[in-house]
Amino acid sequence: MTNNPAAKNAVSTTNACKLCTPLGASLAFKGVEGAVPFLHGSQGCATYMRRYIISHFREPIDIASSALGEKQAVYGGGPNLKKGILNVMKKYSPSLVGVASTCLTETIGDDMGLILHEFREEFSDLDLPEVVHVSTPSYQGTHSDGFHRAVHALTDQLADPEAEKNERIALFPGMVSPAEIRLLKDIFREYGLTPTVLPDISDTLDGPALEDYEPVASGGTPVADIKALPGAAASVEFGSCLPRESGGTCLEKRFGVLNTRLPIPLGVRACDDFYDALAELSGSCIPRRYEQERGRLVDAYVDGHKYVFGKRAVVYGEENLVVALTAFLAEIGVQPVLVGTGAEGKRLAEAVESACGDLLREQPLVREGVDFHDIAEEAEALTPELVLGNSKGQRYARAWNAPLIRAGFPIHDRFGGQRLKGIGYEGTQELFDRIVNALIDKKQSDSPIGWGYI
Ligand code: SF4
Repeated sequence: MTNNPAAKNAVSTTNACKLCTPLGASLAFKGVEGAVPFLHGSQGCATYMRRYIISHFREPIDIASSALGEKQAVYGGGPNLKKGILNVMKKYSPSLVGVASTCLTETIGDDMGLILHEFREEFSDLDLPEVVHVSTPSYQGTHSDGFHRAVHALTDQLADPEAEKNERIALFPGMVSPAEIRLLKDIFREYGLTPTVLPDISDTLDGPALEDYEPVASGGTPVADIKALPGAAASVEFGSCLPRESGGTCLEKRFGVLNTRLPIPLGVRACDDFYDALAELSGSCIPRRYEQERGRLVDAYVDGHKYVFGKRAVVYGEENLVVALTAFLAEIGVQPVLVGTGAEGKRLAEAVESACGDLLREQPLVREGVDFHDIAEEAEALTPELVLGNSKGQRYARAWNAPLIRAGFPIHDRFGGQRLKGIGYEGTQELFDRIVNALIDKKQSDSPIGWGYI
């Protein structure tokens, strides 16, 4: 962690700037077709995670649990895990069960790999779904770690070494919104590329209203497509603070699929890198519609500059998004003064410096492994005029009297978090407009007179 006097004295966490690790894994599993996320642990964990996911996506979410009690906490949860998967099979007929461990089962030392091996042997006469497991103790990591570990587990455990060569591009977009995944698929199509997006939550976590209830929401990455990933022509993954072991690195190391890591394409510079990479993969030039979108975005930067220039911003949340947002703010003339994440060991300061060091006169304070309690006083002293992050920082932004631009996960005090876009030239345009309007709104509300034109 970077120097942070408040955190040195902390003996507990107050208002965490991160969420639980298996929650992130559950989100990733929700992006696989016919999949049911399954928590190996006690019931309360599943309830907490469902509450968070439902309040952001506003979709019915089922997360199964092995419902461990006192007895299993002492003697092990193997029998419950096996029985739980059989119940899920009866109720949902899933194509995949994504099992994530929890604090309890990691602490008692349940060997999920062994239990699942026994399960497959004991019930080999049944038509078993794919079962993918991931280790996600929440005292080690964040929801973002859980998400990336689950994506790695899906790739590593399902990839078929015999898969035939194909022209698809594996896309690991990270924790982006369903609307952003729809946008990414459109962009790939414009370049004549066919992506296999893992995970694909574009329908499963933002589906249409239906006459009949679906036990497992339609959509998601087909299991067959995940199995075929070793035959992909290349892979692309987004993030500036990705773990060493990821979906993309797994494909590259095990099957020689060339992996390109890019920052989240948010802001003109990061988007340029992304669209250039697509041009190279497809052998085509940038389509005219994106040239136009880029041009309109640059024009908006010029028009909006007088409202945003020099504003002081605090950014917090998931580490990859935080880097992308900070670089974008620097690009539009905002001065990020404090950048924080609940994650640890992500080399956030290095990533921020590399993403926007050349654009800033003064580097922001960068804090890793912090909660809101740790950074609140420091942030207040920096007199922020703008705050960017998820809904968890709402009360702090309010106390600092600065508008909060909601971005990332979870957004549970506003409507439409699942449809927010910030990536691509189109998404960046939407985010830029939201920021400019929030600053104008603040100025208007603070004025005792108000005005009609700006
Ligand atoms: S932090 Fe641990 S105990 Fe709490 S909900 Fe997450 S997995 Fe369960």
